[in-house]
Amino acid sequence: MQCNQLRELFTSDPHSQNEATLQHLAECDECAEWLTELQSFEVALSEAMQIGAPEELEQRILAQQKPPETATISQLHTRRHKWHPALALAASLLLVVGLITSLNDQQPIELFEQQMLSWLSDQQPAHYLNQQASDSEVEGMFREVGAELVGDIGTVLHCRITTVEDHKVGYFIIDSEQGLVSVLLVANGSKSIFVQSSAGTDNSKNEQRIKAAIHWI
Ligand SMILES: [Zn+2]
Repeated sequence: MQCNQLRELFTSDPHSQNEATLQHLAECDECAEWLTELQSFEVALSEAMQIGAPEELEQRILAQQKPPETATISQLHTRRHKWHPALALAASLLLVVGLITSLNDQQPIELFEQQMLSWLSDQQPAHYLNQQASDSEVEGMFREVGAELVGDIGTVLHCRITTVEDHKVGYFIIDSEQGLVSVLLVANGSKSIFVQSSAGTDNSKNEQRIKAAIHWI
């Protein structure tokens, strides 16, 4: 067995053992050292990440890290740093972990949006049909969440500061030509505006118009 054959074999299966590999490892110090490094690095890596490296994933990643088939032994030795399977495995696993982490980072944002929209859809804007908020009430609510009105949003029937999922938000209801529109202004960190229009009306149009009229200070 040649060095590159052995390394290719162990790259696709790090725990591969047969007579030929055992014999080669007994005779070739370089390959024996290479394998020890590979295996100890794997252990250190999975311990460091505390995820108990999922066997199947590990195998699939390793199988993709095969060295170039045309490489000769001397090329393999000089190029070792370029494709060292343990490093390639580390990079791949870190990439996977990175993907999972960034997905988790995104989740709260989506969840947050869902929570805000769900809170909005639970409101009964029609209860406020016969009311109208004064200019100073509206101004006060905007100021409290760190925003101001820079355009016309129409008649505000009701407005108040409230709490949704631990976020202080400004809530107001507009009587628009297209029906009632409910709006949540969330200052904390995200500076988001959530707009919910009455069923059957074009929410995106209302959203654009309202967002254009609001300015975060
Ligand atoms: Zn060898």
